Amino acid sequence: MTDWDISTLPAAIAGLRDRAQELQDYPGRLHVHEVTPRDLLGAPKFSPAMWRHLTGSIHASHPVSEERICPLRHDTADCPRCGGLGTYTATRDVYTRPLARALVKLSHAKSKVQPHPLVIIAGLLAEGFSIERTAMRYGVIIMSADQRKTEEARILSAIRALRNRYEETVLGPAPKWTELSEAQQNAEDAA
Ligand SMILES: [Zn+2]
Repeated sequence: MTDWDISTLPAAIAGLRDRAQELQDYPGRLHVHEVTPRDLLGAPKFSPAMWRHLTGSIHASHPVSEERICPLRHDTADCPRCGGLGTYTATRDVYTRPLARALVKLSHAKSKVQPHPLVIIAGLLAEGFSIERTAMRYGVIIMSADQRKTEEARILSAIRALRNRYEETVLGPAPKWTELSEAQQNAEDAA
């Protein structure tokens, strides 16, 4: 997946829309509670079944292989990483449901502003990313261009809060320097 650009609202929404594909396997509708004033203080925003579905999968990961350009400076077939080919195959573990993981993390975030960002994200997902209908979910009816700007800024900052918690790659402990071969140690030193 390419980087999630959050510099503008259209880009931020496009990134969320792409990543929301992972929620498609949920058997029910992407049901979200109707928001009442009480909900704005941090009550659950997804239906209980949906939330169980999300939280049940956040630690799942799987390996993916990818071709990488060899970073070592070498002109012999002795290169410990690529054998002189210039590229090598690396495997990394990625989260199977990175968006669910980010949503659950966001749900734990304390928010000084209301509504909680999770209310806004849940609204976007349930309302097909419509600004107007998402705002209505948290009780704002957009009547003017100024008001639309205010709500767009609020929605963008909610997506940024989600993006800050979104990770695709599982970061395991880095190998200890002493576990590398001598050639790798030299390469790490030169890097
Ligand atoms: Zn190499």
